[in-house]
Order: sequence, then C-alpha cells, then structure tokens
Amino acid sequence: MGATSGSAAGAGTGPPAGDGDRRLGRRALLVGGVAAAVGTALLAREELSRSWWRLPGVDKPRTAGAVDFPGARWVAASAANYRRADRPADYPVDRVVVHVTQGGYASAVRAFKDPGHGAAAHYIVRRDGRITQLVRELDVAFHAGNREYNERSVGIEHEGFVEDPASFTDALYAASARLAAAICGRYGIPVDREHLIGHAQVPGTDHTDPGRLWDWERYIRLVGAERAKSSPAGPAARTA
Ligand SMILES: [Zn+2]
Repeated sequence: MGATSGSAAGAGTGPPAGDGDRRLGRRALLVGGVAAAVGTALLAREELSRSWWRLPGVDKPRTAGAVDFPGARWVAASAANYRRADRPADYPVDRVVVHVTQGGYASAVRAFKDPGHGAAAHYIVRRDGRITQLVRELDVAFHAGNREYNERSVGIEHEGFVEDPASFTDALYAASARLAAAICGRYGIPVDREHLIGHAQVPGTDHTDPGRLWDWERYIRLVGAERAKSSPAGPAARTA
C-alpha cells in the first residue's frame, strides 16, 4: 500500500461486481452437479465450498461473508477496488505479495472500503495477529500496481510502518506465515523468494514496502514450517 499512485492498475475493466440474485439458482445447481459428477455425495456443501479452488471451470459457488482462510474476519472492500474473477480457473495464482500499510489497521480498512481509494488487498494482518479478509481470493484485488501481478497474486497487507521495526511483531509474522502457507498450499506455490515477493519487487511499482526491516529469511522459514505441517507429505501426515 503506501501511496495510492499507480496502485489501481486494472481498475475500470470488467463488469461491476455483484450480479444479482438471478444467478443464485444456477450456483446452487452447479454445486449439486459437481458433487454428483465427482461421486462425492457425502461431501457436505460447506466442505465443498471450502475446496472451491479444486473445482473445474468458472463461476464457482460463493457464499456472502465467506472467507478463504478459516478464522479470518470478513470485511468487504469496495467493489471499485477489485475486479470480480474466477481464479484460479481464469488466472493462475503463483505469487503472494507482501505489503505494509504505512498506517494503522483501521485506516487501512477504511481505505479499502472507500470506492475512491482505487486499491485493496485480499487480507490485512493486524499487529496482534488478527487477520481480516476484504477481497475473495477468487477475485483480482488492485494491490500490486501492475495488472498482470494483480491477476496472478494474493495480496497481504501488514499493519505498520516500513521504517518502524516495532511494527513487525512475532504475532504478525506468525499469523501472516499461517495465511501465506495456506495460500501456497491451495495453489501449489513454492515457498521461496521468487514466489513470495514484496510490493517493491513488482515490476513498474514505485512502492518500497515491505521495506528493509521486513525479515524475509524469518518469514520464508515460518511459511515453510507452516506449509510442512499441513502438507500431505509433511510430518503431521506421516505420523497419522
Ligand atoms: Zn504495498
């Protein structure tokens, strides 16, 4: 985040979000159809909606207020600050972009809810480790200032200031690592510095976040450890 200049690449393209009640019936049918097709009649609808990223095709089922990361609080960003999509069916997701808000949590939430802001990230991680989701991972949030990178990434904001080392608390790193590990697991994103990048690394950006005080070595290690816990090949599965 930081300055707003150049952060709205891709804004103004595509149809307005929200497509009315008339598609609800079709979505309900789609859920039933997919479940029957894969022979998982016992699969609860709730469980199915949690594994939407494995569904073939487009127009995945959505539930109002649903979050992609269990435990996250949902606060909807303004529809002007993202573009509705059907990722990863329409755009493969292969990057996580790390941001720092350059302000408090409340002001970041306010900005992302403001249609005039022109930008929003999928998530904000608060200093105390609380995670808020504002845009579904299905959708293209305008956070990277580069249309291609918006389309291919999930954006995570972190409450704090790039020049304030006290911003980056243990709770913030730990929560963000759990979140990033879940994202990497969903899309098969390798946990390394090529795929977990800072906003400053996005081509064409004039943003500097997360800045030199962000501990990448620590972050990658934490994400890797979280990823290993949940991976089928990880220690948890081997002892199961
Ligand atoms: Zn940023």
